[in-house]
Amino acid sequence: MTVEKHSFKDAVLDKDKFSITWELVPGRGSNEVDQQNVIKLAQQASLDPRINAITLTDNPSGKPAIHPFGLAEEVKNLGVETLIHFTCKDKNRNDIESELYALDRAGLPNLLVMTGDYTTEGYNGRPKPVFDLDSVQTIKFIEDMNNGLEVKAHKKTKTFPKTDFFEGAVVSPFKALESEVMTQYYKMHQKVDVGAKYIITQVGWDARKFDELRKYVDKYELNTPLIGNIYVLSMPVARMMNKSIIPGAVVTDKLLSDLDAEKKEFDNNKERQLLRSAKLFAVLKGLKYDGVTIAGHGLKYEEIKFILDKGEELYSNWQELVKEFDYPEDNGFYYFEKDEATGLNTTTPVDRKNTGSKSNSLFYWSFGLVHKFALSEGAPLYPMIKFFAKGIDKSVLNKPFTYFEYYTKTITNECRFCGDCVMHELAFQCPMSQCAKHQRNGACGGGKDGWCEVYPGEKRCIYVNMYEKYKHSGKEYSMKNRYAPPADWSLYKTSSWLNFFNERDYNYRDKE
Ligand code: SF4
Repeated sequence: MTVEKHSFKDAVLDKDKFSITWELVPGRGSNEVDQQNVIKLAQQASLDPRINAITLTDNPSGKPAIHPFGLAEEVKNLGVETLIHFTCKDKNRNDIESELYALDRAGLPNLLVMTGDYTTEGYNGRPKPVFDLDSVQTIKFIEDMNNGLEVKAHKKTKTFPKTDFFEGAVVSPFKALESEVMTQYYKMHQKVDVGAKYIITQVGWDARKFDELRKYVDKYELNTPLIGNIYVLSMPVARMMNKSIIPGAVVTDKLLSDLDAEKKEFDNNKERQLLRSAKLFAVLKGLKYDGVTIAGHGLKYEEIKFILDKGEELYSNWQELVKEFDYPEDNGFYYFEKDEATGLNTTTPVDRKNTGSKSNSLFYWSFGLVHKFALSEGAPLYPMIKFFAKGIDKSVLNKPFTYFEYYTKTITNECRFCGDCVMHELAFQCPMSQCAKHQRNGACGGGKDGWCEVYPGEKRCIYVNMYEKYKHSGKEYSMKNRYAPPADWSLYKTSSWLNFFNERDYNYRDKE
C-alpha cells in the first residue's frame, strides 16, 4: 500500500493523521560535515512518506551555528518540508521581522517559536543576549503578519499582504514545583490566545506528565494539537540532563540508574535507546497526541525508521508500556489526581487550596498599596497625580523627577531605566534586571526547582515568585489572561511614571 506524504500542517491539524518530524541540528560553519549530514539525512527522510517535516534547530545551547534558513531552502528542494526553530535570544524585533519576510518569500511557513537558551559561547567571548521580544510577543507578531501587518508611517497606515505562517509553541509539563508547572500552563494559554496553532512538549520521560498535559489541554478546551517530544537518549546525554546542563530537559536519578542497569541486558546500546523511543512513540499515540518529533544525537535514517515501525507495532499494547515511563520528580507536582489503575491521571484536579506560602512580604504589600492608591487608573490619587504629571512633563522638574524614580527603583529592583515599566504586573519584579531573558509574559522553559535557568541556586525565577505571591492573594489565574507588549525603546531613560500618566507607555499601545 502506498502512503501519501502529507504537508506538516495537514498532518498536525487533521485528527485522523499523526504528524512526524525529525529534528536535525545544523552545526557551526557553512560547509562542515554536520551541514552535509543534515542534507544527506533530509534526502533520505524525503523518501519516507511518514516524515512530514525536518526540524532545524536555531543556535541550540546558546552557541553559534549556521542559521537554519541557510539549510531549510536546500532541504525543501529535496522534497521534504521544514519546521524551523525560531528563537528570540539572538535577534531584536527588526531582525525578527526581516527574517520572517525572508522565510515567507522562500516559502518556509512552519515555525516553532521559543524563547531560546541563554547565550553561552561566541566569537571573542560570551555574546550579548538580546531577548527583545519574548515567545508570546513573537507569536503575536507573526499572527499580526498573517492577518496583514499594519504599519504607521508618515501619518498613514500601510497594510502588508498577509503571510501564511504555521507557528507553534513549546510547553514543558516536566517541572517539579506547582509554581513552575502552573506558570508553564498559564503561558501556554497566553501563547494559544495570541495565535499558536500547535504545542510541542519539552523533552521528558514521564508518561503521567504527558497525560496531564493532554488532559489539561482538553479540560480547558484549548483546541490545539499536541506533539510529543521523543529524544533518543544516550548515556552521556542522560548524565548531562540529569545534571541540568541542558536547560529544561529532565532525567531523574531513577531514570539514570535504570538506564545504567539496562545496559547489561543489551549488547547494543543503540538498540536499547531506540526500543525505549519506540515504546514512547506507542504511549504518546495511545495518549491521543497528534504527532511526535524525534530527536537525538547522531541518528541515522534507519534508526528513525525503526522507531516508527516498532512504535506502530507496539501501539496496540500501549497501556502496558506506561509503567516503563514512571519517572516522577521527587515530590513533583501533578495537576490531576493519580489514577492508580492506569498509572496516569484522573480528570479531577488536585486540591491546591492550601498549598503555597502563608504570607507575602512587606515589600510586596507596600508596593501594592502605592500602586492601588496612586499609580493605576481608577486609583483615588490618579486624577491629582495626572494633573501634576502633565505640568512636570514639559518643565525643568522632568529631569529631577525622572532620576528620583530611577534611583528609588534602582534601590528596590535594580531598575534598568527602560521607561516602560511593567513591574506592577509581575508582582513588583523587574523583568529587565531580575529576569535574565527579560520575559514580560511568563517563564521560559529553562528554570529548575524554582531557580532561574541562568542563575541556578542563586536567583529564583521571577515567575515562580509571582505565582506564589499571586496565589496568596487568590489571583494566580489572572496570569493566563494577560499580555504585555514589548518595551518601547524610544522611552529608554525617561520616567515610566510620567509616561504612564501622560499616556505614552505600553498601557496605551497595542494590548489586544
Ligand atoms: S527568571 Fe525565569 S523566565 Fe527569566 S530567565 Fe530565569 S528562569 Fe527564565
